[in-house]
Amino acid sequence: MSTDLPPLDAATRSAIARAEADFPATLERLKALVRIPSCSFAGFDHTQLDRSAEASVAWLLAAGYPEARIVRLPGVFPYVIAKDHRAGPTKPTVLLYAHHDVQPPLREHLWTSPVFEPTERGGRLYARGAADDKAGIAIHCASAAAWNASAGRPPVNLTVILEGEEEVGSAHFSQFLDAHLSELKADCLVIADAANFDTGLPSLTTSLRGNIVLEVELKALKAPLHSGMWGGPVPDAVQALCRLVTSLSDAQGRISVPGIYDQVRPLSAQEEALYRRLPYSAEKFAEQSGMLHGVPAGDVVDVHRKLWRWPSLTVSAIQAGERGRTGNVVMDSGWARIGLRIVPDMDAERCAAALEEHLRAQVPAGMDLIIRRQSASSAWGSPTDHPLFATALTALEHGYGTKPVFIGCGGSIPFVGEMTEKLGGIPALLTGVEDPLCGAHAENESLHLADFRSALKAQVALFGLLSASL
Ligand SMILES: [Zn+2]
Repeated sequence: MSTDLPPLDAATRSAIARAEADFPATLERLKALVRIPSCSFAGFDHTQLDRSAEASVAWLLAAGYPEARIVRLPGVFPYVIAKDHRAGPTKPTVLLYAHHDVQPPLREHLWTSPVFEPTERGGRLYARGAADDKAGIAIHCASAAAWNASAGRPPVNLTVILEGEEEVGSAHFSQFLDAHLSELKADCLVIADAANFDTGLPSLTTSLRGNIVLEVELKALKAPLHSGMWGGPVPDAVQALCRLVTSLSDAQGRISVPGIYDQVRPLSAQEEALYRRLPYSAEKFAEQSGMLHGVPAGDVVDVHRKLWRWPSLTVSAIQAGERGRTGNVVMDSGWARIGLRIVPDMDAERCAAALEEHLRAQVPAGMDLIIRRQSASSAWGSPTDHPLFATALTALEHGYGTKPVFIGCGGSIPFVGEMTEKLGGIPALLTGVEDPLCGAHAENESLHLADFRSALKAQVALFGLLSASL
């Protein structure tokens, strides 16, 4: 820990001691929650989401929240709201978020232990949902419980929301917010669903990318044709589609859509200095990402600017005919799924329109292009000058024993911007216990147990510090 770290008061220290003493019981309770296979994807048993919501409510009540209940919107997986406002109107209110639904197992045969049977190995807890995001629920329960056991109540007002549809795109989150806005009023938001830059290195995520996804289909013929009898004079939609796709970027990966970089804000000198301090190794990046050859070009600033603060274009699927089942034919059409990650200050609607316009302008004569927009979510970025951030850094350093870093995230949590806005522009802390090895969304997801304990201690400390500072 650094020598300039502000100390914690006696009440906060004893709440942290209580969280440590109760940690084995917290872990057992987390395991019980993880055993519920609450996958929100189509084709899974969605009654499990009722079970995970019920188990979460039971845990929140056991942790000492005076009020915890399931909230149902018609046809929507259950949300949970819990409240402890006993600190009173002179104290700040913290809104805590996590989600209780999980990703599907993916390829089950690649799991080394059962998907939904939490298994400890090498200091990690393996199971789907252990890190993403049931550890977040555990921290919201156990941090309050520690304060309740040591001081009778938390030193700040707490409101918890647990979502049941995060992994399938939070389609009704806006509706949920509108219906419950008055009871969700808070001074700040803690979203326990983000990642640390590295194992043991506490991190606050201050930017997220938005995501525009288009499905495009290029059609040239009514039906596939024999390539010998017809190939030559008739148009080939698949080659045309490949040309259409390659027109989107150059060989260096720079996006060719006109105007796409116009709204990208350059990194400030302060941000560049922050990036420069990140413990980055090109070899480690290549290994963690699974690059087959070489390492990413550029230094620590270039790489993270590309990842967090520049748009990136991805072609995630191209289809025409079927591998192993297609003969010598000229295909009638080709299909592609194109994604554009956008960064703070880029307008999602404007970018989606620019991308669509560029595609339409490249369509060869005699072909039809059909564009289906799948999503266009905004990026999110937060300044860090609100006093909450300094307080959060102090809390994280107390929890982990290591100086925290500010980071960005190349991924998207679409609701963050809307949520902070609807709540009156309150600042948001994006914390979490995922680390580069946690395998969230992949096989063998795992939670690093020492980081889980540190994150819990940090949240206990945060409540104590906020009580005195906000
Ligand atoms: Zn998550």
